Amino acid sequence: MSSQNQNRSLEQAGPSGSGGQVGVRVVNWSGSDRLCISPKRDHKPENYDDLQFEFNPNIFASLEHYLPPHMLNLSRDVKLHYIRNILLRYLPENDRIWIQKLREYRLKIILNYPPLHKEIFTMDAESFFVPSFLRAIKENTEASFRSIMAEPCKGVYTFEMLQPQFCKKLMSEVDHFERWVHGTKLRIMRPNAMNKNKHGVILDDFAFEAMLDRFMCDFIQPISRVFYPELGGSSLDSHHGFVVEYGINKDVELGLHEDEAEVTLNVCLGKEFSGGDLFFQGVRCDAHVTTNTQPEEAFNYSHVPGHAILHPGRNRHGTRPTTSGNRMNLILWCRSSAFIELKRYQRDFYSWCAECRRKKAERVRLSVVAAKQELLKSEI
Ligand SMILES: [Zn+2]
Repeated sequence: MSSQNQNRSLEQAGPSGSGGQVGVRVVNWSGSDRLCISPKRDHKPENYDDLQFEFNPNIFASLEHYLPPHMLNLSRDVKLHYIRNILLRYLPENDRIWIQKLREYRLKIILNYPPLHKEIFTMDAESFFVPSFLRAIKENTEASFRSIMAEPCKGVYTFEMLQPQFCKKLMSEVDHFERWVHGTKLRIMRPNAMNKNKHGVILDDFAFEAMLDRFMCDFIQPISRVFYPELGGSSLDSHHGFVVEYGINKDVELGLHEDEAEVTLNVCLGKEFSGGDLFFQGVRCDAHVTTNTQPEEAFNYSHVPGHAILHPGRNRHGTRPTTSGNRMNLILWCRSSAFIELKRYQRDFYSWCAECRRKKAERVRLSVVAAKQELLKSEI
């Protein structure tokens, strides 16, 4: 869908991806047919891998955990129909045409592009990740993750992740791809449809999609399940993976924005550069996206090659100017369709939005004051 490639600009903040209903068959399910807030973890979903729909089959399996209890044991076709109807609300006809074009574009590249480092297109954890990161993932406990991570600001984690050799290969693959595209006169799609990033490439478009899917499921989800349960961290089911390039003659900076993602991984690949710090201003829901930053939410991060920063996509952030040299970063936006759907039925997000939390605390304070006054009155 077109929103896949867009940052949520703060000027245009609002419920994302709701889209129109052009050409979409809408079924009016009754209230008891709504998805459940909590997933049924011990339910074994159907296999949807054979589907040729506009959505990733993993999304169907993931949403099945949230079906109303009486639907869990219905036939696969009924569940499929129900889940697809939910997903289609996010996908107007224009977006479906766009997805078809995207498929053709990717196929054209995959059939013709000669890779430089074929070995980085399939997941090879031992050669991609540093040993400390692999050990922590293998152990798969909060303590093991915390042993390799710093949390310089609440909910933002930094750690050493990628081996220098892998970073080098990925950067040269991106350069090689850019040169190849230039030679073929193919119009390349850039990572951000709002044209904020004029440089960089979408890795999913040139055969990295399957590798990045493993990257998210096997190496990000174990961490996000522990650190971001309230933000859909345990039900990530799709991604958008790309490389951005900053420097002189490239993009220089990127203003304040939110990502179209539940969890964002940002890893610096290199090369030599100065400047380019990330700055953060706190997590907000759509309604509170322009509210003030609290002092404890403001945070600056300087990139180190091979090191990752993991943060909620809704943590408002931007990139300061890269003042010399060139910098490339691998970015993986991880999404949860269950979280996005459930968010539609909620009005308060105090488990993750600081402003919702502040307002709730204020309501509690006022009701305590009112109760005290009532009490005083009755004593007089
Ligand atoms: Zn809020």
